[in-house]
Amino acid sequence: MRKVAVLGSTGSIGRQALEVAAALSDEIQITALAAGSNVELLAEQVRRFHPPLVAVAAKERWRELKELLAGEKVTILAGEEGVLAVAESEGDLVLAAIVGIAGLKPTLAAVRRGKDIALANKEALVTAGHLVQAESRRRGVKIIPVDSEHSAIFQSLHAGRPAEVKRLLLTASGGPFRTWPKEALQHVTAEEALQHPNWRMGAKITVDSATLMNKGLEVIEARWLFDVKLERIEVLVHPESIVHSLVEFVDGAVVAQLGLPDMRLPIQYALTYPRRLPAPWPRLDLIGRTLTFAAPDTDRFPCLALARAAAEEGGTCPTVLNGANEVAVGEFLKGRLSFLGIPALVERVLVSHTPVPDPDLEAVLAADAWARAKARALIREGVVGA
Ligand code: NDP
Repeated sequence: MRKVAVLGSTGSIGRQALEVAAALSDEIQITALAAGSNVELLAEQVRRFHPPLVAVAAKERWRELKELLAGEKVTILAGEEGVLAVAESEGDLVLAAIVGIAGLKPTLAAVRRGKDIALANKEALVTAGHLVQAESRRRGVKIIPVDSEHSAIFQSLHAGRPAEVKRLLLTASGGPFRTWPKEALQHVTAEEALQHPNWRMGAKITVDSATLMNKGLEVIEARWLFDVKLERIEVLVHPESIVHSLVEFVDGAVVAQLGLPDMRLPIQYALTYPRRLPAPWPRLDLIGRTLTFAAPDTDRFPCLALARAAAEEGGTCPTVLNGANEVAVGEFLKGRLSFLGIPALVERVLVSHTPVPDPDLEAVLAADAWARAKARALIREGVVGA
């Protein structure tokens, strides 16, 4: 039995991970759950999986959770300390599926306790990849990607040795506006941006997919996960989302992993790695399918280039990119920032930042706070807006 703690259990990844755990109940035991504020769903999950420990980040919802779980044998914690306790709790593997930089401290805490990590929370690597990776090497911790693209690369890398890798090719669906002219992008609504053509995901990553910021964050994630230089990581637009990513080796061989756009497969692989277990999810049938590939358009989707530039600059720049983007996406979803305002705001914040090289955790969190404050100020002052 693999003992698994789930951080972000009420989210899109968390819920699908629990589906996987239910399907593999002889293999996976859920030992702790943590979420932000959705106590109704969290309580349901506790009643279904009976973990001995649960935490809700929103302290004001602790009492409600306690009432919902009256009669259950479970320790109920709250606040950041509660989430950290879940990350550090007894068990083999932690699924890091909190959205945003909020997932960084719990992920680092789990690594420091020597837990293997199934990593969905890409923002932890974007902001502090150097810290997470250094700590995981020190503790001998495995970081297994959940992101479908990184899972595909992780699987494809088994075909050769690290020194034989020429390039990583990350595929991108291109999002709902892949074919839209630039003028039309100005008027995109949150509702339109939330309609991803292939994947059903949380709101933040769905908007990031529409702006291509998600792919930019994934380039940075790939760099840390696979220890590959940025210039060897390329992006290919592949609207069908069947080829999840590819690795080109020095001899010219290109190895890829294919599957339906269904996160349960990479989640299951991360939870059972290195084993592959039979899965009940729908399977890929290639007959009659056309698979197409194109170069990304960074003129219409500048977030991809912004992310690459921030990664090349290094230090606190990726954290600032991420923090400004988290604010921008939140404001866009509330209708207070236009779709094209997202890259505009991120760029304005980035250019006014003085990077700190090789930041420790404190410097990363300070850069994040600075980026958020700066982004909010720019919106308040009307420099960038709806
Ligand atoms: P969701 O928005 O659906 O879920 C986010 C989860 O994080 C929820 O459980 C939420 O709790 C929880 N949460 C938020 N803030 C906190 C906090 N401070 N402390 C504890 N828990 C918190 O996001 P997704 O599942 O879509 O994404 C999660 C991560 O996985 C992201 O980093 C995303 O980029 C990555 N990812 C997602 C994919 C997908 O298909 N969804 C694919 C690949 C990567 P609550 O809802 O109760 O407030």
